Amino acid sequence: MKFKYISDYNKLIGLSTQGECRICNHNTSCFNEVCYRCYQEQESLKNCPEEFRDLYTVARPDEIRKQLKLINPDWNDEKIDQIARKRDHEIEHGTPLINGYQSFQWPCIDGDYAEFIAYGCKPFYNTISKDGKKAFETSVHEEVKDCLYEEYWEERVPDEVIHSSNDTNYATLFFVFKSLHSDKIVTYIDSM
Ligand SMILES: [Zn+2]
Repeated sequence: MKFKYISDYNKLIGLSTQGECRICNHNTSCFNEVCYRCYQEQESLKNCPEEFRDLYTVARPDEIRKQLKLINPDWNDEKIDQIARKRDHEIEHGTPLINGYQSFQWPCIDGDYAEFIAYGCKPFYNTISKDGKKAFETSVHEEVKDCLYEEYWEERVPDEVIHSSNDTNYATLFFVFKSLHSDKIVTYIDSM
């Protein structure tokens, strides 16, 4: 399985398992209890039944437009809206939900949604930088930056490689996203 914003789906989340889809009740491969066909068929998140909304990946329409405008000051609103709508749709209907503790809006970088590439851990940040602690702190999404404190890296970031959200007993998960257009990364912190 390959998705634009999670290209290594099998490694990061694992093959989907057979089960009953909560929307169409078919027994088929499901992502978080919703089959892929139902993900794609919903016209927009607004049209999807209220009780299923927490099963959907959530876009950041305002942020995408703001970033696109900033990067392309000469583009008119129509062009920005056209591109942004395509990207919002790809996130909401073409990207399976990442299993975490809280639902969150998918991070965007460089005017596009970023690709989920890894679970954050010390080995990961130490590989991408000589100063892993600094690389981690710099990458933390502004929405969750408030939780950082001086010893956070030492005390909370896992020492070993985390392969999937299921093989960890940690009360905090670190989702690493990388821009599709540059080397920039963002870490989203998800706590129980
Ligand atoms: Zn279905």
